[in-house]
Amino acid sequence: MSAPLTLPDYRLRPDQVPETVVERLPPAERDRLRARITNLLISQGAVLVAHYYTDPELQRLAEETGGYVSDSLDMARYGHDSKAATLVVCGVRFMGETAKILNPEKRVLMPTLAAECSLDLGCPAPVFTAFCDQHPDRTVVVYANTSAAVKARADWMVTSSSAVEVVSFLRDRGEKILWAPDKYLGEYIQQQSGADMLLWQGACVVHEEFKGLELAELRAQHPGAKVLVHPESPAAVIKQADVVASTTGIIRAAREMDADTLIVATDNGIFYKLQQAVPDKTLIEAPTAGKSATCKSCAHCPWMAMNTLTRLAHTLETGANEIHVDPDIIERASKPIERLLNFATERKQQIYGRSDA
Ligand code: SF4
Repeated sequence: MSAPLTLPDYRLRPDQVPETVVERLPPAERDRLRARITNLLISQGAVLVAHYYTDPELQRLAEETGGYVSDSLDMARYGHDSKAATLVVCGVRFMGETAKILNPEKRVLMPTLAAECSLDLGCPAPVFTAFCDQHPDRTVVVYANTSAAVKARADWMVTSSSAVEVVSFLRDRGEKILWAPDKYLGEYIQQQSGADMLLWQGACVVHEEFKGLELAELRAQHPGAKVLVHPESPAAVIKQADVVASTTGIIRAAREMDADTLIVATDNGIFYKLQQAVPDKTLIEAPTAGKSATCKSCAHCPWMAMNTLTRLAHTLETGANEIHVDPDIIERASKPIERLLNFATERKQQIYGRSDA
């Protein structure tokens, strides 16, 4: 029997993670920018699509201007269905790229191109491609949180809500999996599906900071509370979950659960939509700042926070920060995405959140 492979650690070092800086504007300046952005969206025939983790100001503006708030794949799908010629994506770069891959004929703008993702950064395409080439016997399954170039090397792309079902399907066909980039999500899928999986060793800097010991203490203080956890979190946190779900799944579960108090382990940007969904429930953030904390983000993604009203207005005024993806990459990256979309259609699976957002 061959020795187990030890893969390099692709998590970012703390010095590679920016501080989370949230824009705080005087109300008059905020209102001026909101009005300016609304006018620019109308005059340019553009639509604003925002991720659940962005600043509530942006989520509110997307809703009020006829745009949309959801998870990454649903944002791209919404853009596809929209008649708008310009999509303005508030989120991180891979979301802009996915929107472009699914809508190559549209102009895709973002408030900043510096909004990255630790999972994407921790999975550089050349290194990942070489790794895949070393394992030609494995089906390459990647998470949505990857660059267009990494998706172009994959057989399947999955979301957190579809990953277990897709991998179980592949397992039933006798396929072995090469998974990237989130090791915690990979461990969760492996445990749920029993598939043979080789796991890339990346992590989300936000979800990795949720702490099992401190969560146990918090649960003891709120014995009636239910715990909702995103599967990018470490196993010690997932183990204590009443529900493990994607962002859209967490919002749906919050509605459906009969508990009055919910402890939520995901980026705290989601509280804007959670409060809309369950205004009468008490929502508590799962603890990050534990005894072993190295937290720089403290439950809010530093790159998501780079999406600000000021930058959004600048982008619309100047046309800066357009997403371009090489046509060859678009052609190859669209295949694993379409495979997922077809799989979901055939199984009538909810992989994105249109009906929930
Ligand atoms: S919250 Fe984590 S997974 Fe999401 S964009 Fe930020 S670093 Fe990436």
